[in-house]
Amino acid sequence: MASVTILAERCKGCGICVEFCPKKVLGFDKEIINSKGYSPATAIQPALCVGCAACARMCPDCVITVDR
Ligand code: SF4
Ligand code: SF4
Repeated sequence: MASVTILAERCKGCGICVEFCPKKVLGFDKEIINSKGYSPATAIQPALCVGCAACARMCPDCVITVDR
């Protein structure tokens, strides 16, 4: 099964990955504020990830890793 990992401390909360995920896997973890002052993106529906890596390609800060 594919899995997506986001480095929460380095996410700037821009939402590009959330927007581009075709499976709506990603969202924001509103429970967390990182040291940059943002709620980071996270996998809110990880079981739906198909490993396409669109999120990783689009992230301007390269903080997403996809394993498949
Ligand atoms: S790898 Fe594809 S399906 Fe999985 S979270 Fe990223 S964009 Fe979504
Ligand atoms: S695209 Fe990158 S920086 Fe932007 S919300 Fe997603 S993980 Fe965070």
